Amino acid sequence: MRNYYIAGNWKMHKTRAEAAELAKALAAQLKDGKHKYLVAPSFTALETVGAIIKGANIRLGAQNMAAEEMGAHTGEVSVLQLKDLGVQTVILGHSERRHVYKEDDALINRKVKLALKHGLEVILCIGELLEEREAGKAEQICETQTVKGLEGVAATDLANIVIAYEPVWAIGTGKTATPEDADAIHAYVRKVIGKLYGAAEAEKIIIQYGGSVKPENASLLMAKENIDGALVGGAALKPETFVPIAKFA
Ligand code: PEP
Repeated sequence: MRNYYIAGNWKMHKTRAEAAELAKALAAQLKDGKHKYLVAPSFTALETVGAIIKGANIRLGAQNMAAEEMGAHTGEVSVLQLKDLGVQTVILGHSERRHVYKEDDALINRKVKLALKHGLEVILCIGELLEEREAGKAEQICETQTVKGLEGVAATDLANIVIAYEPVWAIGTGKTATPEDADAIHAYVRKVIGKLYGAAEAEKIIIQYGGSVKPENASLLMAKENIDGALVGGAALKPETFVPIAKFA
């Protein structure tokens, strides 16, 4: 049985005071939550939020990290600095990183391996653009991003990998993939993991769905066999919308 894993990506939102307010509300309201939870604030609020959720059932996540451990990389944040702040998980390959900041599969793969080397859990985001879906290439794109993102990752590290399927056309647009369409890609990605690591690992890996998840659609998505949680953007910014997703019935 896979545990549901609900993660909130706060993107470039919230000052420290605002982040603290949200973190306090979530720590209180998710105390009796049954699933695995994570929040990923901006780098600037990691320390503040980390102190609030310490000891709570919410993991501390970062939204990105550098591909190098340290050095002359102006504006970047290293895995060592994240660990120093108590970060447990890092989101890598988010579509905004891929498409706005032009991160390619090779760079994302270097980050994945570095994060794993330092014992961080990785949420590896994959997903196709609208034109790729319309051209019938959704599976192919997701397969390539999965295979290249995990190149050189040992089976023993797979317990620290979560895949987030986020069709780019559904992120922040209000358009959600139907539960059936999302489940079909999840099933396909699980097969890809099976080819790489074997059936037992494929059965175990957590595959989150992301793209306009809301309180109204969370339980329909989660009811699907291959959907094991959610990576939530917009709806993660308020307890009124994140908590009902995190506690979906
Ligand atoms: C995301 O950014 O990962 C995301 C899924 O955003 P939203 O929920 O706003 O579509």
